[in-house]
Amino acid sequence: MPSSTVKEHSAHFPSPKAAFRQSYILAGHRSLVGASLARIRSSRNGICALLALFFVCAISVTAQTLKARISVVSSDPAKVRVDLEFPAPATKISIRNSYGGALGLAERIELIEGTRQAQQVEVRKKAPGEFDATEKFDRISYYVNATQPLRPGQLAQISWLDSQQGLLLLSDLIPYLVEGIKVSSAEVELNLPAGWSVESNAVRINAQTFVTRDVDKAVFVLAPKLRRIEFRGPAPKYSLINVGKWPFSEKDAVKLIQRFLDEYERVTEFKIKDGATVMLLPFPGDVGPENWSAETRGDTVVLFVGNKEKKKRVLSRLGIALSHELFHLWVPNSLDLEGDYDWFFEGFTLYQALRSDLRLGLISFENYLQTIARLYESYRVSPDRDRMSLIEASERRWSSGTSSVYEKGMLVAFMYDLMLKDSSNCAGSFNSLYRELFRLPPARHRNANETIISLLNGRVESRNLTAKYVEGKEPIDLERFLSAYALELRTEKGKGTLRSKKEATQEQRKFFRCIEKGD
Ligand SMILES: [Zn+2]
Repeated sequence: MPSSTVKEHSAHFPSPKAAFRQSYILAGHRSLVGASLARIRSSRNGICALLALFFVCAISVTAQTLKARISVVSSDPAKVRVDLEFPAPATKISIRNSYGGALGLAERIELIEGTRQAQQVEVRKKAPGEFDATEKFDRISYYVNATQPLRPGQLAQISWLDSQQGLLLLSDLIPYLVEGIKVSSAEVELNLPAGWSVESNAVRINAQTFVTRDVDKAVFVLAPKLRRIEFRGPAPKYSLINVGKWPFSEKDAVKLIQRFLDEYERVTEFKIKDGATVMLLPFPGDVGPENWSAETRGDTVVLFVGNKEKKKRVLSRLGIALSHELFHLWVPNSLDLEGDYDWFFEGFTLYQALRSDLRLGLISFENYLQTIARLYESYRVSPDRDRMSLIEASERRWSSGTSSVYEKGMLVAFMYDLMLKDSSNCAGSFNSLYRELFRLPPARHRNANETIISLLNGRVESRNLTAKYVEGKEPIDLERFLSAYALELRTEKGKGTLRSKKEATQEQRKFFRCIEKGD
């Protein structure tokens, strides 16, 4: 079962000339604050485990199915009406008030009305997202203010629409609990503005009706013009849902996605069972590709990218965003691990994406080294970089605002890669870490941090590394660490550069070439 972990990234650089390599680092800078679904999920499982000692956990047994009609009332102001029909009369509903870094979502709900057999029932707001009534109701309706979020990082995280396009997410539009029972599936009818159409990762019944068995992950995109392109078929099914115009062809985008899918199947030796969907939308406004925002939910990547630039630059930025997001289809979304381990599924994923970009020729080795040097500089100036261990920072990623799960996590991945290659005379591959993870026999309640740390330490003597930087709070001194390797880090005028040592021995030069391969 894929994890419900929230992952999102965004960028908003004022200068279109901002170097591509910044985008690796900025994912951390633009991380957001809020409640993680991973935590909701893990704590729920924890409660279930406890209750299971006495009786079967109600959440998994009596999940609800809802019928929903979602109508776009207007795009300016952006307003959506939701009409719900319940399978049995209820007195209370809960609508999610936060998702990842987006807070106060339920505050956008207004004019809520309940009915029972066409008779009006008064519904009261008890708290944000919590509504109840003294009498039972079997239908309810309300309006949702669906204006575009102010923070670019939330573009792919919450429902919103404008006159060009819309993104509707069931996770913030319909209740996740009815009468305290989890809503797992829904039948959704969409009423769109004239001339618009809709695509979704949910199963389509007819032109405007869909069913989903996982309301948390159901995503709808709407626009006057959109296209679904299926590829790599017939099964598993992969789709690109394309909204808007791009300086490249759909064929170019599909080719790029395919390259990463092939690469990650090779890296992990694991095929995603049910395929995946990539939803590609233009970043709002007249902006270039330095503006992007992405989120991977289950088997679906939602990606907004600015399209006002030349083909090469837009494709390059798209590639960098995709290399990270598509790997989330594997890690963590295809792993069944419990707990908060964002340092690994964000930090190590950043490094894995960098290695893949290098191996696939999307970036040069010089770019790779510069990215690591800039990452280290960014880590060094971060005031709360070592306030918590990476495990603690993962637990508090959304509430602490720290970016260490990205920056320090990625640095640990880089250091681990060097140690692995050094200890094995270049025979050790970073990929085998993922292969081992995907080969683990099925187990219930497997602790993510314990499992990953044990795998890391089992393959190379890295106990020092994990104890100091993952479990502990020690600061990373990369210059000192690199003194044992063929690389040196120089900082001039606040800018770091990483390069091969001039006085490197033949053996060290060989080591340098082995990192250069990116495998
Ligand atoms: Zn990520």
